Amino acid sequence: MGSLPEYGRKEVPGHLHHLRTTTELKAQRLKPADGQQPVTLLRVYRRGHGWGEFPLYDPAQAAQMRPLSAKQQAAMKARRTCPNCNVVRRYVAYRVCQECAVKEQQECMELQSRTYWRCCRVSVTPGPQGRDGRCEPCWLQWVIQRQFEGERFAVWSRACPGRYCQKVTATDAEVSAERAARPWRGPRWCPPCAERDERERAEQLRADQEARGHAREARRDEVASLIEWARAVLTDPDTVVLDAVIRGEACLTSGSVSANARGRITRSGTVSPTRRAVFRK
Ligand SMILES: [Zn+2]
Ligand SMILES: [Zn+2]
Ligand SMILES: [Zn+2]
Repeated sequence: MGSLPEYGRKEVPGHLHHLRTTTELKAQRLKPADGQQPVTLLRVYRRGHGWGEFPLYDPAQAAQMRPLSAKQQAAMKARRTCPNCNVVRRYVAYRVCQECAVKEQQECMELQSRTYWRCCRVSVTPGPQGRDGRCEPCWLQWVIQRQFEGERFAVWSRACPGRYCQKVTATDAEVSAERAARPWRGPRWCPPCAERDERERAEQLRADQEARGHAREARRDEVASLIEWARAVLTDPDTVVLDAVIRGEACLTSGSVSANARGRITRSGTVSPTRRAVFRK
């Protein structure tokens, strides 16, 4: 075979176009006859296999394959019949035939072009472009809503944002000039509202600081009383301190533990995890 000329799919010269590979012969129920030699080689790239060389035979010299039995013919026909259009194709129709698959795809795309994706409404004809997937009613509603919100924003940006104050503090032109020169800090305050807001903020800040101070003082007092108690307990000769780190399930969270001066556990007392427990004799 090494001496045979080799061609790619598109390089086969015109006078060799009638040649067939064994697979192509098989599709015509032919096979290379005994001793039939290939005329040339076909170079083909197959995905997953790489480049391969396949002998090309002259179908005029090929031998007929054994005829199919009636059962085989029926099976072959069944494999090639499209379940959708019932047409017998020249290839195996796996789900539907290629023609039906193309038609399905076109129908799907056509339905998609008539469907508004925002509300999933389907119209008879494709809707106008540039409405961002909105049908006519949805589009009108959106436009009205946008106008309404725009107007509400304009009213808000013209007026003082102070509490119970609707005084107009800027014209539309002033607002747009301020918004163009970013960052825009919101509507202008009227002088009384600005003064009141400043005062309220200062008062709030002072109240917060006072509250934090009170909390700190309360904690300090609590700690001092605890220290006092601990000192009293440690100087008491009748008290033993049991210092235990309790882990996992086998802890003394609600168990009863007692101890005497020699460290023997004898009497009841409740211990919570990672706390020091003090027991009196
Ligand atoms: Zn079909
Ligand atoms: Zn809609
Ligand atoms: Zn105001």
